[in-house]
Amino acid sequence: MSPPQPSQLAAGRSPGAAAKGPLTLRELDAISVDRLNGVGPQRRKALAEVGVESVFDLLTYYPRRYVDRTSQAPISEAAVGAEMTVVADVHAVSSRRLRGGRRLVSVEVTDATGALSAVFFNQAWRERQLTEGRTVALFGKVENYRGRKQMTNPVVDVLGDGSTSDRTGKIVAIYAQSEAAGIVTWDVANWVAEAQRRCSARGIADPLPDWLRSRFDVIDRPSALADIHGPSSAAEQAAARDRLVFDELLRVQLVLRSQRLAREANELGIAHEPAGALIEGFHRLLPYELTGAQRRAMADIDADVSTVRPMHRLLQGDVGSGKTLVALHALLIAVQNRHQGALMAPTEVLAEQHFIALRALLDGFEVPDEARLGGTRPLRLRLLSGSSSAAQRREVLVEIATGAADIVVGTHALLEESVKFGSLSVVVVDEQHRFGVSQRAQLREGGRDDRRIPHLLVMTATPIPRTAAMTVYGDLDVSVLDELPPGRKRVATQWVHGPLATESMWSEVRDEVESGRQAYVVCPLITESESLDARSAERMHAELVAGALAGLRVGLLHGRMPPADKERAMARFRAGKLDALVATTVIEVGIDIPNATVMVVLSADRFGIAQLHQLRGRVGRGSHASSCYLVSDDDPTPTAVQRLTALSESNDGFELAERDLELRGEGTLFDERQSGRSDLKLASLARDLAWVQAARDAAIDLIAADGDLDAHPALADEVDWFASRRDPDYLQRS
Ligand code: ADP
Ligand code: MG
Repeated sequence: MSPPQPSQLAAGRSPGAAAKGPLTLRELDAISVDRLNGVGPQRRKALAEVGVESVFDLLTYYPRRYVDRTSQAPISEAAVGAEMTVVADVHAVSSRRLRGGRRLVSVEVTDATGALSAVFFNQAWRERQLTEGRTVALFGKVENYRGRKQMTNPVVDVLGDGSTSDRTGKIVAIYAQSEAAGIVTWDVANWVAEAQRRCSARGIADPLPDWLRSRFDVIDRPSALADIHGPSSAAEQAAARDRLVFDELLRVQLVLRSQRLAREANELGIAHEPAGALIEGFHRLLPYELTGAQRRAMADIDADVSTVRPMHRLLQGDVGSGKTLVALHALLIAVQNRHQGALMAPTEVLAEQHFIALRALLDGFEVPDEARLGGTRPLRLRLLSGSSSAAQRREVLVEIATGAADIVVGTHALLEESVKFGSLSVVVVDEQHRFGVSQRAQLREGGRDDRRIPHLLVMTATPIPRTAAMTVYGDLDVSVLDELPPGRKRVATQWVHGPLATESMWSEVRDEVESGRQAYVVCPLITESESLDARSAERMHAELVAGALAGLRVGLLHGRMPPADKERAMARFRAGKLDALVATTVIEVGIDIPNATVMVVLSADRFGIAQLHQLRGRVGRGSHASSCYLVSDDDPTPTAVQRLTALSESNDGFELAERDLELRGEGTLFDERQSGRSDLKLASLARDLAWVQAARDAAIDLIAADGDLDAHPALADEVDWFASRRDPDYLQRS
């Protein structure tokens, strides 16, 4: 962000400033919050912690909810047994320890009509929050306790410190507070009000053309920004929200669409002939019929790679939907056209796994070669791995450079400077969410001297709801494998909690092993640190070998093991020489061992829905019935319970993704690095489908075919500002 421009906020007071016209979001984002009264260095730091650095950030620090004081009941009318909101002042607070060690905080509140007490169990911090004189809104069920009205563990919103409460309107905005940073809702309300006041001389700009506003029936931006913070009715708040949601989604769509059009206008790829002897041979050799979805995805790819416009496609398919074959189809088109294909995986283990899978599928596969007697040679598949010796690596690099290697599998090591392809024309990236956007760009640009861009296929097993796909991957075309190969069985999933259930689970695991099957045991994810996770896996392995799985052949796999050991563990498990494999989440994606039928996930409450679904996808891949046990720690949070329940109820990745979106909100959909600066502060991809669609339609109408927003300079400026804020590399890359 550029440093604050002192003149801008002061503009409200300087007479000449009005000539400058209303404030744009770019300008609001250039004014630091410490220009506001009451925001000193300390508050500035605290606000930065919640993502608020500029006046723009503050104005879009939207209320988390509202307390409607028009529907609140006076205490005298609070009927026992009813659920209601009471707004009152804290009169007295006390706290004591109960038998058994629990802490009880009692708070006495009063309004003009009477008194009520609120009691909180095990929430000692309430004593600090609910100090005498504060005005609070309590929501809960009114009980009768020894003849007095009482609420137990009500929902609490602190509205002010008494002095502020009479000033607040009928509907009070409640902002997310930060206990740690010391930010309370009425401070935020005051700063927002001050910012609005000081913006009022110049006003806030609205870049939307009138025809668009009336077409989607949205109010103007200045009113929306005022009403979202201080609505006088629920309807007013809803109208404000609609406009601001539309704004957020439209900005995203405009960025994605202009990037896409610019890309299409500038990038030159390589046209392929998709039909041919090689591809036909491959399809003839397949041991099974393709699913309809696989066929459709391959047809999409055929169409893409046959033009000079580089493919930019997302292949989305639930675990086990058969993405590998589709990827291989794309890679083989490159080979058929005398170019090379590369498959890039997020980890070494997965790269090796892909290599093994492709090697099996391509066993004995010949490609035409006029230079040879008989006219064919074996297809050359190579692995560029961290575990190969320097000499092996050199040899592979030469084969890659001369074009002798047809298909190369590797990790992001494939992106290194030293890797030069003879003629790379198709790139498949597995599990895109682990690669940054700029790495993706690097792979597409690297490797070729003639600046032609290879075709790109991104595979993901994380099902993304349609609305999210439109927003997050708006710059990609999408093929969906929405059909599993025949014969797949549901993986019976249960949430396991408590020592008894855990014990009986281990005995079921032993039974499965006895009947010849194999099991995965996934260890708790402790931190982001691979070494700590590795240690926890080692400890768990030792514990199980000595206890629940004593006498079985139990292997260990984690990211910190030397590559050769990892490979050996995988190979032994694959060959059935291990009964169980204790692993970290390195087994999350891609590993395919049909005889493994049991998946145990320890501390499953610490994993997200998508990750658990991925893990579960490692079983249920063969003809045997499979099961998945999600073992939770003692006291999972309510949302963790909802996640575990969702997984036991559904095996459908898309359904789970929708559920996940509901439970989790939007923030995490985007690249982690952008967290705190999320694109969508208000819009919900789960709820605002109609607005996603509207924003998309609007973007198409606003952007001319050449990707320019020339007809709408104010909007163009906003999109530029937004894109550079969202991704600092943006300007350099486009
Ligand atoms: P994923 O989409 O999870 O990567 P894979 O490509 O690993 O799925 O395929 C999962 C399993 O299904 C593999 O064992 C693969 O051989 C098998 N498979 C793929 N396509 C078909 C099909 N059309 N019919 C039957 N089995 C298939
Ligand atoms: Mg796979």
